[in-house]
Amino acid sequence: MKDEPAKEASDVRPARLSAEQIAANFSDMHPPLTPSEAIIDADRCYFCYDAPCTRACPTGIDIPGFIQKIRSGNLKGSAHTILSENIMGGMCARVCPTEVLCEEACVRNTHEDRPVRIGLLQRYATDAVFEARTPLFARAAATGKRIAIVGGGPAGLSCAHRLAMLGHDAVVFEPKAKLGGLNEYGIAAYKTPDDFAGREVEFILGIGGIEVRNGVALGRDVTLKTLRSEYDAVFLGFGLAGVNGLGLADEKLEGVVDAVDYIAQLRQAPDKSRLPVGRRVIVIGGGMTAIDIAVQSRALGADEVTIVYRRGQEQMNASRYEQEFAQTRGVNVRTWSAPRKLSGAGGRVRAVEFEHTRLSADGKLTGTGQTYALEADVVFKAIGQNVLWERLADTAEIVALSKERIAVDAERKTSLAGVWAGGDCVAGGDDLTVSAVQDGKVAALSIDRFLKGGA
Ligand SMILES: Cc1cc2nc3c(=O)[nH]c(=O)nc-3n(C[C@H](O)[C@H](O)[C@H](O)COP(=O)(O)OP(=O)(O)OC[C@H]3O[C@@H](n4cnc5c(N)ncnc54)[C@H](O)[C@@H]3O)c2cc1C
Ligand code: SF4
Repeated sequence: MKDEPAKEASDVRPARLSAEQIAANFSDMHPPLTPSEAIIDADRCYFCYDAPCTRACPTGIDIPGFIQKIRSGNLKGSAHTILSENIMGGMCARVCPTEVLCEEACVRNTHEDRPVRIGLLQRYATDAVFEARTPLFARAAATGKRIAIVGGGPAGLSCAHRLAMLGHDAVVFEPKAKLGGLNEYGIAAYKTPDDFAGREVEFILGIGGIEVRNGVALGRDVTLKTLRSEYDAVFLGFGLAGVNGLGLADEKLEGVVDAVDYIAQLRQAPDKSRLPVGRRVIVIGGGMTAIDIAVQSRALGADEVTIVYRRGQEQMNASRYEQEFAQTRGVNVRTWSAPRKLSGAGGRVRAVEFEHTRLSADGKLTGTGQTYALEADVVFKAIGQNVLWERLADTAEIVALSKERIAVDAERKTSLAGVWAGGDCVAGGDDLTVSAVQDGKVAALSIDRFLKGGA
């Protein structure tokens, strides 16, 4: 049974809203706590023994410890507690899905009560040291060892900073003009306004001992073999540069866009009102990227934004909180629908045909045969990313992979002696900023043991 909508002319243009409206729509998603709000929230903490919130934090921050320091007015000490475990504690305070990590685990998170606002308290403490530009970490005596860090995202920078603290020299190879990885080019603009990503990078580099080589890509300008021979150790943190395709004909139609590419453009745009925006936007996917592109399209003035996901809401990678956030921003969510055909006119996408889906008796996702079509001016693909191995052939040939990502052990060692890896490019992770930071830290500690002859 087909339900074909009437075709309207394609409508993609900039300035759908005034610059003021756009600025308001992209303002801080969670405004910071005031000093009195911070004290009230800190007072709600029970300072639990073997705190479940700390166990739920991928970087193991001593959460009751930093909250206690906020209570006693010691913001520098509080930030030190946070940043000693997670050097990107400022960014993570803004972007961590706390509702499924520390705050979900908080013992105050009951039907009658609400969790301690750990994310906002973390931001309160770390913002204070960022604003005061307080240096918190010093380098140990120089060891004379040099480590190559491939990729200047959260994993690479966390590794570089910890190595620098331990007295080693880190050389970061980064193809892009700016460091920060997806913190700079991917995270939704309303989560990290006012160039927080750039300021955090500056803070991290401030320790010294980290050399940055921009414009250099592994596989293009340098090989893993060379890095292994020229450095005492190598850390691979090159993330996921590839985007999964829909596997449909006509994916090259104008208006069918990779969500991460558009988000990168949006994050770097000096004037967001100049970005072309569709009136009717379809987002295909069910994770954080899908939510982010949908909400940001609405914030730029798209009239109708619909996320279409092939399974149910329960199976979406985006948390329930994020789904509800998108819905409160006017995003529609359609589930149990898989894209089957893109249709266009004059080389531009005009509509997407979807087939309803269901789970078969053996639990497999299957089409029901019933289709429907939605008109679209822009279709965003947000169905996941992958490592662009075709650009990293020299690495893929020598390092062991698991499910198309790098296989690592608990210390983030790869199959190659002297090579560690972490962040999104390794297998078994959860593709979160905080986990990439943890990988970088764990790898740095392991590299340090190795260089000192203990591993
Ligand atoms: C749109 C989007 C929104 C997200 N939102 C959130 C969020 O709100 N909260 C959250 O916790 N997580 C979020 N994530 C996930 C999070 O951003 C990642 O898990 C995290 O950035 C991974 O860090 P990384 O260092 O492994 O990789 P990246 O951040 O991708 O950094 C990798 C770096 O390596 C560089 N590189 C790539 N190829 C090469 C090469 N060949 N040689 C050298 N360097 C190379 C890249 O340019 C980049 O700087 C989001 C992801 C996306 C895509
Ligand atoms: S679980 Fe909640 S109450 Fe207990 S220490 Fe953590 S933040 Fe405080």
